Amino acid sequence: MADRSDTITLERGQFGDFEIVSTTGQSTLITLDWDYPGIASTFGWSPCDCGDTDGTVDCDHRTASEMIESATEYLDDHIGDSVTDPGYFENLNSDYFTEEEVNDNRRTGV
Ligand SMILES: [Zn+2]
Repeated sequence: MADRSDTITLERGQFGDFEIVSTTGQSTLITLDWDYPGIASTFGWSPCDCGDTDGTVDCDHRTASEMIESATEYLDDHIGDSVTDPGYFENLNSDYFTEEEVNDNRRTGV
């Protein structure tokens, strides 16, 4: 199991984008606008009160581009914040199926 106490910190990326750094020393650059709403949500932003959108699709109240702009501003304002890692780096850890295990599962029809 992954250590759920891992935290991630929002940092400024090298080119004005954002970077997420984990307590385990892993980091990932967030360079795509479309990724900002998801990241911002992790750090406490909410795309719209209606809950019908994750910030990358229009809802009845706001357009996706409005929400992405809002998410970007939110991230700008929260550089240095830390939250519990919701699993950004889990895929890099060994507790997921290895390729070999996936193949085994295919063979046994799981
Ligand atoms: Zn809405």
